[in-house]
Amino acid sequence: MLASPSVSSLYDRVRRFIPPAEWLSFEDDIAAIRALKKKRNAVILAHNYQTPEIFHCVADIVGDSLALARRAVDVEADVILVAGVHFMAETTKLLNPAKTVLIPDMQAGCSLADSITPADIALLRQAHPGVPIVTYVNTSAAVKAASDICCTSGNAKQIVEGLGVKKVLMIPDEYLAHNIARQTDVEIIAWHGHCEVHELFTADDVRQLRENHPGVQVLAHPECPPDVVAEADFAGSTAWMSDFVASKKPAQVVLLTECSMSDNVAADHPEVEFIRPCNLCPHMKRITLANIRAALEQNQHEVLIDPAVAHGARLAVQRMLAI
Ligand code: SF4
Repeated sequence: MLASPSVSSLYDRVRRFIPPAEWLSFEDDIAAIRALKKKRNAVILAHNYQTPEIFHCVADIVGDSLALARRAVDVEADVILVAGVHFMAETTKLLNPAKTVLIPDMQAGCSLADSITPADIALLRQAHPGVPIVTYVNTSAAVKAASDICCTSGNAKQIVEGLGVKKVLMIPDEYLAHNIARQTDVEIIAWHGHCEVHELFTADDVRQLRENHPGVQVLAHPECPPDVVAEADFAGSTAWMSDFVASKKPAQVVLLTECSMSDNVAADHPEVEFIRPCNLCPHMKRITLANIRAALEQNQHEVLIDPAVAHGARLAVQRMLAI
């Protein structure tokens, strides 16, 4: 298929991140995906960690997991394709049970989601009777169903304090739990899950960055270890990082998070210099233009959730959205 002029013009947005030869290899898939979306009345939700050719050239709704969860509720399309990892597609299906939800690769998982099971939660409830379980959205639907309420990195403090209790269990991200514990009087009991991307950053990385780039603003995701967050100028979800860059317009900035995040924010802020030590998420990178196109052409892979699990998991997500 020949790329239409409108597809070629999309290149302006991403030319700083995609070499011309690579772009040529993308044009055909981008044109096909845009046509398939119309034909199937489909929309594409893309997480901030998706590559620029997906994020800027085929996605309809972009953001962090909270934004995607919220905006998925208002989607009018028949088909929602999630360019992200499996737990995000499950959350989308929970909030849109009547719609067809597709994920291009069923193996797009998450080290945090894999770190805990409903059986682990049952043991936690036995060990801590009566203590509410606040579950990060980076978990399976079955784990959400076994929990009391969900949270994201953007609203975790608000959720923990909104419960009006003295003690909560916060699962599965140990570092997020410890980072939130430093901001609140609520006692937080953590689990031992880690994000395999954010756990790699060290406080020494931050000190080196400051030495090499005096004046650089360092923004850390709260899935980073607490000593990294302590060395940073600001810690917050990917949405907060994006807002920070838009409002403060620092001369130089580093985002301690997944690599594509810097590219996607930099596309809107050419005046800001992004220093780029970053780590790739192998799960997010399973999603490509080619498998998005195949997913829309072949209606694969449909995300389905056992109705018995879906009811409890939906309640946990809806309680979060209500707060
Ligand atoms: S970046 Fe970390 S938390 Fe996000 S999907 Fe990858 S492994 Fe999971």
